Amino acid sequence: MNKPLTCRETTYLVIGARDQPLDRAQQDALAAHLQTCRYCRTANAQFTTLFAQLDTLLARGVQP
Ligand SMILES: [Zn+2]
Repeated sequence: MNKPLTCRETTYLVIGARDQPLDRAQQDALAAHLQTCRYCRTANAQFTTLFAQLDTLLARGVQP
């Protein structure tokens, strides 16, 4: 039984997942926290948008 994540830990997982895929336990803990915490749901959505924008910017940067 995993202990519930704090909001800070959840944020780290969301950010960390960009560089390294989460393992099963981390995915489950993250999903469980997002179900119960609307703050982290909002933050997660904003990070997703931000990362997509970053990818667009970076992709544009490497174009000749
Ligand atoms: Zn939270």
